[in-house]
Amino acid sequence: MYFITFEGIDGSGKTTQIDLLKKHFSGRKDVIFTANPGETQLGKELRKILLHRNDLKLSEINEMFLFFTGIQDNYEKVILPAISQEKNVLCDRYYDSTIAYQGFGRRLDINKILKLVEVTALPEPNLTILFRIDFDVFLERAEKKASKDKIESSKSQFYKSVISGYDELAKIHKNRYVVLDGLRPIELLHKQVIEVLKDRLNIC
Ligand code: ADP
Repeated sequence: MYFITFEGIDGSGKTTQIDLLKKHFSGRKDVIFTANPGETQLGKELRKILLHRNDLKLSEINEMFLFFTGIQDNYEKVILPAISQEKNVLCDRYYDSTIAYQGFGRRLDINKILKLVEVTALPEPNLTILFRIDFDVFLERAEKKASKDKIESSKSQFYKSVISGYDELAKIHKNRYVVLDGLRPIELLHKQVIEVLKDRLNIC
């Protein structure tokens, strides 16, 4: 049984691909889907604060803690029980998002984020599928989106750093990461994802 995460900048196509996977695996009792932030009761409250409460003026370090708290809660309450029941877990965002967004994007010390991973004993996924798009594509897709949440309206440099942060993570964790070109047509990407799950983990 495997723990698989999906990563990528906003607009990279994660939701689109995960929705297709949900259809593909519908009715399968051995596959569950989960997402960060906002899956557990605590996660939902944290998501509201993180994405919509500008008035709280969260510091960068506290933003990082809150994202991390949500991820840990999701692991404890959803992922771990599913793994214990021998299910495959397909998870939209995990601590690599914290490293890419708060570490590379906000330039917080990545070693400190890794220490948090260690303290909370969050396990490394078996496989991470990264949907990669360039900054220009990110901008194009972001502009098409009607309502922007708090994070999406911040600066370009931040998003450029997140994109290169993911590239860095994919290089460091070569064996765990599979990088797919998010510019490819949706159906073709879906086929590629299915192939990766089949070839790497024999999930089909
Ligand atoms: P994310 O969940 O990563 O933020 P979404 O799946 O919501 O991304 O996709 C963002 C936007 O890009 C949506 O409007 C979606 O229809 C479009 N999109 C997603 N995947 C592709 C693709 N492969 N090619 C073109 N447009 C895409």
